[in-house]
Amino acid sequence: MENFIKYIDKEPFLSVAKVGKKTGIQGYVIGGFVRDLLLQRPSKDVDFVVLGSGIDFAHAMADFLGKDTAARYFKNFGTAMIRFNSWELEFVGARKESYRKSSRKPIVENGTLEDDRRRRDSTINAMSISLNEKDYGQLCDPFGGLKDLRAKLIRTPLDPDITFSDDPLRMMRAIRFATQLGFVIEKDTFAAIKRNKNRISIVSKERITDELNKIILANNPSRGFMSLEETGLLKQIFPMLTELMGVEVVDGKGHKDNFYHTLKVLDNVARVSDNLWLRWAAVLHDIAKPLTKRFEPKVGWTFHGHEFVGAKMVPGIFKKLKLPSNEKMRYVQKLVLLHLRPIVLAQEIVTDSAVRRLLFDAGEDIDDLMILSTADITSKNEAKVKRYRKNFELVRQKLKEVERKDRIRNWQPPVTGEIIMETFGLKPSRKVGNIKTVIREAILDGKIHNEFAEAFDYMLKTGKSMGLKVVSRKYFLYK
Ligand code: ATP
Repeated sequence: MENFIKYIDKEPFLSVAKVGKKTGIQGYVIGGFVRDLLLQRPSKDVDFVVLGSGIDFAHAMADFLGKDTAARYFKNFGTAMIRFNSWELEFVGARKESYRKSSRKPIVENGTLEDDRRRRDSTINAMSISLNEKDYGQLCDPFGGLKDLRAKLIRTPLDPDITFSDDPLRMMRAIRFATQLGFVIEKDTFAAIKRNKNRISIVSKERITDELNKIILANNPSRGFMSLEETGLLKQIFPMLTELMGVEVVDGKGHKDNFYHTLKVLDNVARVSDNLWLRWAAVLHDIAKPLTKRFEPKVGWTFHGHEFVGAKMVPGIFKKLKLPSNEKMRYVQKLVLLHLRPIVLAQEIVTDSAVRRLLFDAGEDIDDLMILSTADITSKNEAKVKRYRKNFELVRQKLKEVERKDRIRNWQPPVTGEIIMETFGLKPSRKVGNIKTVIREAILDGKIHNEFAEAFDYMLKTGKSMGLKVVSRKYFLYK
C-alpha cells in the first residue's frame, strides 16, 4: 500500500493527528479531499471520519486550536465544522447506513471505518488516509479507487444496484463527477443507472438541480447531458429537454436535431464564459422549438416565434426545477427572448438605428447576448459560418460605435416624466407616457441625439402637436 505522507505532513493534519493521539480517537481524511489530492486539484474543504463521536472530536480539536477557532456543531447529523485559517474541516463519526425503499434518508448507526466506506458513492470517493501514529499517511483503498482514478473511471464501491437504489442522488453524482473530471462511467455502473432511473423520483428537486448546475458548470457540459439522456435520467428530471430530440423529414426536407444543437451551443458558451445563468440561457434558448414547429411546403421547417414562446416558458421551467425566481430568471428570460436578434441583424445591412434598438433592449446584458448568439452559429456549412462570423464582427464594431456616440446601454430617458408634467401642467397620465415613448423612439431612430437639449426641444414639439400649452418654463434653463 502506498504512503501519502507527503500530502499531509503539514497543518491542519498534524493538529488533527495530535488531537487523535490525545483523545485516543482514531481519525482519517476521507472522500473528496483525498480524491482531489491525488488528482492534484488542491482543495481547502476536508472531511475527517473518526472512530467515535465526530462532535466530541471537534470539541477537542477546537480546544486544541484555541478559543478563537470558529466551530459549529450539528447534533442532529452528528457532524461538526471547524474553520481553521482558510480551511473548512468537517468531522463525522464513522457510520453505517441502512435504507428504506421510500426515502433517501438512511437510518444511521455508529459503524466501523469499513462500514463508512461502503456507504460512499464511488470508489474514487471512498479512499481514506490515516492520521494515526501507527500508520500516518497510509492510503486505505479497499475498493480500488486509485486504480479507477488512474483509469479515469467512475464505479460504485458496492453492487451499483444497491448503491443507487439506496440513494438515487448518487446516479446524478456519478454523471456529475464523470463530466467534471472527464471520466467514463464504468459499464456495470452505467447499466445500473439505466435500471434505477425511476428511483430518482424520491430525491428532492433542489438536490437534483444542484447536481445539474454542477454539470452545466463543467468544461464540457454536453457530455453530462448525453449521459443523462442515454441513461434515461434526463426524461425523468427534465423531460422538456428530451423533446428537442429527433429529426422529422417531410418531402425529403429535414430540420436539425435541436437537442444536439442545444448541447453544441452550451459547449460553445462554456468555452468562453463561466456564468451559470448564461449557460442556462444556452440550455433553454430553443426550448420552444417543438411547440412552434411547422412544415410549410414552400419554405420547409419553421419555428416562428420560438424565442417569444420560449421566454414565456422560462418562469415555469425555473419553478419546476426550483431554480431562483429572481433577476437571474429574468436575465435568462431576456436572453432567450433576444437570442435571434444579433443574427437577424447580421443578415441585414447593419444600420445605426437597428443597433441602437438592440442596445436598448439588451441593456447591460448586450455582451452576454452576443456570446449566446455567436455560440448559436453551429451550421455544418463552413461558408455560411464564416459569413455569419464576419457579419457578427461588423455588428460588434457598430455596437461599440453607437455605444460611444449615444450611450444607449442602461438607457435613462433624458427628459423625465416629472419634467413633462411640470412643463405642460399634466397629471400622471397616459399622455405623459406617450410623450416619453415618442422621444425614446426618436432617439432610437437616430432623429435626435440622446441628450437633454435635443430631447427637450422634441418634447416641446410633440406637446405642441398634441395641443398642449407650456405652463412652466423652469426647465428651459437647463437646455
Ligand atoms: P464536491 O465538493 O465537488 O461536491 P465532494 O466529493 O467533496 O465533491 P461532498 O458532497 O462534499 O462532495 O461529499 C464529500 C464526500 O462524501 C464524497 O466524496 C463522498 O465520499 C461522500 N458523499 C457525499 N454525498 C454522498 C452520497 N449521496 N452518497 C454517498 N456518498 C456521498
